[in-house]
Amino acid sequence: MNRRKFITSSICGAASVAVASSAGLLTSCAAGAEKAAKNTELRISFQEGIAPGKDLKEKLDYMENMGIVGFEPGGRNLAGRVNEIQQALAGRNIKVSAICAGFKGFILAEDPAVKAEFDTTMREIIAAAGDLGSTGVIMVPAFNWQSPCKPHTLETREFLCEQLHELGEYALKQNTTIILEPLNRREAHYLRLVSDAAAICRDSKSAGVKCMGDFWHMQEDTSDYAAFMSAGKEYLQHVHIASRGRRIMPGEDGELDNYVEGFRALKELDYPYYVSFECGTKGEREQTVKAAVELMRKQWEQA
Ligand code: MG
Repeated sequence: MNRRKFITSSICGAASVAVASSAGLLTSCAAGAEKAAKNTELRISFQEGIAPGKDLKEKLDYMENMGIVGFEPGGRNLAGRVNEIQQALAGRNIKVSAICAGFKGFILAEDPAVKAEFDTTMREIIAAAGDLGSTGVIMVPAFNWQSPCKPHTLETREFLCEQLHELGEYALKQNTTIILEPLNRREAHYLRLVSDAAAICRDSKSAGVKCMGDFWHMQEDTSDYAAFMSAGKEYLQHVHIASRGRRIMPGEDGELDNYVEGFRALKELDYPYYVSFECGTKGEREQTVKAAVELMRKQWEQA
């Protein structure tokens, strides 16, 4: 292998994409991924509040009619809802995509009682997520409003990795994972980049620790494409989508709602998981949801 080929193939390899600042090198990775890109299916998922409908059955009927294949419930009281959700999904082409948080306390709490509350409730949700066949349970290490919080130091990062290791190993035993969600600095100072979340996954040394990207929160990542590529096949387990100006339905913020570069990365990664709606709407839900799904499918084709 000559030097140039070696450099190109190294850079195409998963996490090291983060070091490639040249658009030319990133583009060169695309050639080998073209075949996978053509065949990668867009798997759309809805959180529970997205579809119109007076109850879960009506919502799932609506989703099924639109070809939505994933359902993302909140984690709150999930153990008590396992039967209800299993029965509602029976015989449908819809699976639980991920579980959105729902635990009490937080992992970086200074107060041992608050940390213990996180440990107990998160493990209950993980066990229920495994029963439901979820790809994982989404978590944020600490929101800005949560305090007292451990300081943003190297020791805290090491503590976080150790704790995530234990949690990830527990999740694997329950046939699921935990999924770190980076936010932006207005919401969470600690974790703000997809690549940072991926590095924490790596350093947690557990295959049960994964991460995600949320098109709404990804305001500090300078490139949607590079953000997803930096997590790569090994760590990228889920994606959230919303409009990019006001966090409403994709398309409601017009020109801002461009997901093509991010979708291109997902196609090149042959991403096998879900892109899940996490947003409100300013319009008539019946119309805005349909328009958003159409926009996503159109942009997926363009990617
Ligand atoms: Mg999100």
